[in-house]
Amino acid sequence: MKRIQLSHGAGGKEMGKLIKEYIVKNFKNNKAEVPLEALDDSAVLDGIVFTTDSHTVQPVFFPGGDIGKLAVCGTVNDIACLGATPVAMATAMVIEEGFPMEKFEEILKSMAMAAEEAGVEIITGDTKVVERGGIKDIVVTTTAIGKESRWLKSNWKIAGRKGKWLLDSMLRPGDKIIINGCIADHGIAIISKREGYGFEGSVVSDVAPLNGLMEEALKEGGVVAAKDATRGGIANALNEMAEKSKVGIIIYEDSIPINDATLAACEMLGLDPYSIGNEGKMLFGVTKEKAEDVLKAIRKHKYGKKAEIIGEVIEGNYVILETSVGGRRILDAPIGDPIPRIC
Ligand code: MG
Repeated sequence: MKRIQLSHGAGGKEMGKLIKEYIVKNFKNNKAEVPLEALDDSAVLDGIVFTTDSHTVQPVFFPGGDIGKLAVCGTVNDIACLGATPVAMATAMVIEEGFPMEKFEEILKSMAMAAEEAGVEIITGDTKVVERGGIKDIVVTTTAIGKESRWLKSNWKIAGRKGKWLLDSMLRPGDKIIINGCIADHGIAIISKREGYGFEGSVVSDVAPLNGLMEEALKEGGVVAAKDATRGGIANALNEMAEKSKVGIIIYEDSIPINDATLAACEMLGLDPYSIGNEGKMLFGVTKEKAEDVLKAIRKHKYGKKAEIIGEVIEGNYVILETSVGGRRILDAPIGDPIPRIC
């Protein structure tokens, strides 16, 4: 008998197979403008951008944030990826019997803070409690709706290309790939705290709401695609975009921002930083004419200070990494996330 494995939830190839072969197969969409089967960051129906996420991160409190902040930001960022502004949010929480009330309230307070920063209101929800051991601590699900950003139409006009939403399938050869800052901090902060490796003094999660940053990019114009590089890291996100757009992508190792402490931790633990999840990083596909301008606009925002153009879209089928010494290798999507339960 086939059974669910941890890798089925880890954001890599195994999860992709589970979603396609079981979930998409059973949920046929007829009305959605951007349907489930597009497997984009959000769906669109009647102009409403819609997405949901469950959060099972362990430990629930980690350097740089907690499950509450993560739950709000993760969902806000998936709405923003389409070029939309989040409007309202629902949350469902499953809590383990015995979970300290004080910690519960701390989680709620950080959800409220993140929601306020993102300009989204939490307007409905549900709570369930399960017996001790039924789950560990708490699971937080967030669902959000958003509407088209006021800058989205002018963004496309400036791009000089026909498009509506920023979809993974919109990349074309010549487009540049921009990231808003350092990779792999979230995954390393989580594993360090969980396993007691001791990097947490120097590596802090990047969890942040990126809708404000997205607005700045759209205002500049020329953005054609965007994806938050969560589970499976930039390796997974870039491969998804390349596959759906039927293009290749080349990225340059030297231009990818990474903190020294995070890189040292990756080397020590034998982990590939490209496959490690982020919670405050977005990959933007931008027309080559507008790439420098969008980069400048992003760098002015507090979550984009270390932004870089890390690569470009080419003809082909693969994501290729050009290393510091000039060698080239295929950057594949990970099979499963090397660090489970980071979000
Ligand atoms: Mg996403």
